[in-house]
Order: sequence, then C-alpha cells, then structure tokens
Amino acid sequence: MAPPPLRRLVVPGLFVAGLFAVYILRQPPQNTGSSELLISGPIMGTTFNVKVVTEDRSVERRERLSYLVREVLDGVDESMSTYRPDSEIEQFNRSGTEVFAASPDLLEVVAEAQRIARLTDGAFDITVGPLVDIWGFGPSGVTETPDEEVLRDLVAVTGYERLEVDAENGTLRKARNDCRIDLSAIAKGFSADRVSEMLVREGLPNHMVEVGGEVRARGLNGSGRTWRIGVEKPTPEGRAVHLVVPLANLSLATSGDYRNFYERDGIRISHTIDPRSGRPISHDLASVSVIHSKCMTADGLATALGVLGPDEGFELAERHDIPAYFLVRVSEGVFEERQTRVWAALIENETGAGPVN
Ligand code: FAD
Repeated sequence: MAPPPLRRLVVPGLFVAGLFAVYILRQPPQNTGSSELLISGPIMGTTFNVKVVTEDRSVERRERLSYLVREVLDGVDESMSTYRPDSEIEQFNRSGTEVFAASPDLLEVVAEAQRIARLTDGAFDITVGPLVDIWGFGPSGVTETPDEEVLRDLVAVTGYERLEVDAENGTLRKARNDCRIDLSAIAKGFSADRVSEMLVREGLPNHMVEVGGEVRARGLNGSGRTWRIGVEKPTPEGRAVHLVVPLANLSLATSGDYRNFYERDGIRISHTIDPRSGRPISHDLASVSVIHSKCMTADGLATALGVLGPDEGFELAERHDIPAYFLVRVSEGVFEERQTRVWAALIENETGAGPVN
C-alpha cells in the first residue's frame, strides 16, 4: 500500500521564518569570488529577472547579456503570444484546417503541451483558447458571464485530440477552423529554458532565470550556494515568501488562483479553466508548485495539477512521480500543505546541488 501523503497545516509566516533559519544553518557559504549581474525588465505582460554569476560586470558585458536575453524573450513572444495579432501562433489560430508549417520552437512547445494533455487526460489543454477569452482572461479582457449554451458550444470546440503535431514534417493541423490554441500556461517556462541555454553557450553556467514567476536555476549563486527560490504565499495582498526551495540545476513553476482572478457575485473567477466543464476551477487549491529539469514542463504540469485540484491532482502527481507541492486553502491565511514523496526527497537531499561548468 502506498504511504499516506505528507500533510500538515501551516500558518505561512511562522513556517517561513523556521525555514529560513534551517536553510541558512545548513549551508556554509563557499566563496567563489564571483558576483551576480542582474538583468530584468517587462515581457509578456509580466516581468523577467535573470541573475548571472560572473566576475566580468563591465558595462559591455551587461549590455551584451541584456541584448541576448531580450532577443531570446522577444523571439518567444513573437512566436507564441496570443496578445500579438502578428505572432506565429495567431497566424495559426486564424488559419483553417490546412497543414501549417511551424517554427521548431512552436512545434516543440505544442508537442510537449500535447504530451502533458495526454498524461492528464485533457486537464491540460491548449485548445482552451476560446474559453480563456470568453471568461475574460484573453487579450480582450473581462466580458459578461457566458450562458450555458455558449459554454456548451465552446466546450465542443475544445479538445487537444483535435490538434495534430507532425514533428517529422514540422507541421501543425487543427481539425476545426474555430479551434484556437493558447500557450500562456507553458511558453513562459519555455522562454526560461531558452535563456538558460543561451547563457550556457555564452560560458555562464551559474545563473537563475525567472520569467513571470517560472524559474530555472543552474549551478550556484554568487555566494557559492545553491540557489534559493521563494514560493509565494498564495494571497492576493502583498508579496510574501511562503516557502524557500533550494533549486539545483532544476526548474520550479507555480500555478495558483490567488493573483489572476476577478470576483463576480462573491464568486472567485480563476484564470485556470477546466476544459471538461468549460468553467474556471472552483476547488480549494490555492497554489501548486512543480519541480522538473525543464521549466516548460514544470510550467505546464503546474497548471495541469491546478486544474485537477488537491485530490485528483495530488494522486496523479504521486502516481507519475512528479515533485509537486500543494497549498490547499483551509481558512483565511491558513493552508494545508501536501507534498509528493519525490518533492520531499528532492528538497531534503537538494538533488543535483553543486557547481557546474
Ligand atoms: P499559468 O497557470 O502558468 O497559466 C494560466 C493560463 O493558461 C491562463 O491564463 C490561460 O491562458 C491558460 N489556461 C487556462 N486553463 C488552461 C488549461 N486547462 N490548460 C492549458 N492552459 C490553460 N499578458 C498580458 O496581459 N499582455 C501581454 O502582452 C501578454 N503577452 C504574453 C506573451 C506570451 C508569449 C505568453 C506566454 C503570455 C503572455 N501574456 C500576456 C499572458 C500573461 O503572462 C499570463 O497571465 C500568464 O502567461 C499566465 O501565467 P500564470 O503563471 O499566471 O498562470
């Protein structure tokens, strides 16, 4: 019989204070003599922060890295933004059912999205685009509450099985004209992967890349320690750290209903949509964080588990050995914490920690 999930009730403030103390005591500083260079800015309706460990912090180095980071992020935005009518994805969305020649990046992201869709039996579904729009989370903003008939029609349009990826020929094809894809739940993670790969090519293996809250960390930070990444306390007011995760050559992504939502008639309308009902999720899961080597995969899985919720999502994560950490809302400011066995083992052992070249 599988061991019971690790559960406990936590009051975030106290929990964080304890954790900080534990991590600082456990990690003696190792002085590498290097320093961190920070590059940040707006992108994709959110922000990015890139920390690079380098001894060369000259203006030239900073300018070159800023340019290269921007180039990567803009490239993903130009391909995968549903907020730009000229993007590659919007061209695909406007196209009919004919074969569409896609860029290698778009193909890679759509193929991974389809893999996650199959793994989660359609809880993750990038054809959810029309539903995201009708609930007011697309480029057009908040609209009227859709009626039953409209929702039924849109659920009929939705379905990852209606989207074909032909990796060999580099093409995508949709089965219906009105199918629209939305990569908002996976493309930010992909862009963090791409920035990290670019930094390695530049000879900078020790870095941390964060795009809209999705993080990929590699090597050690400027103090010679494993990168420590905060998981936010899942409340709309303020930005407090709930949990600190040591991240060694891995990625961490979080999906939650606490930041991107609106209220109608006292009901919280979340931006995460359950493709099976066509409605925003309405369970008590406040946030779920996932660790994976690829930030794209962590990003997609976090949204998928967020759709499935605290019970079904947790069971799926355990069954597939996904390192996942759930915060379930119990009452105002109090959360039940659930971590899968592989999450607990990863955090305990700091798997993968150490310097890289
Ligand atoms: P996540 O949980 O990572 O993703 C939630 C999003 O995924 C939802 O908002 C919805 O779009 C989609 N989704 C919902 N349900 C499902 C499901 N069941 N399966 C799969 N996907 C689902 N925002 C702007 O305001 N302006 C911009 O210019 C802009 N440009 C962007 C460009 C790109 C390339 C990307 C990727 C996003 C952009 N965004 C923009 C969107 C903004 O960054 C989103 O709020 C963000 O991507 C949602 O991420 P999250 O981490 O909050 O939530």
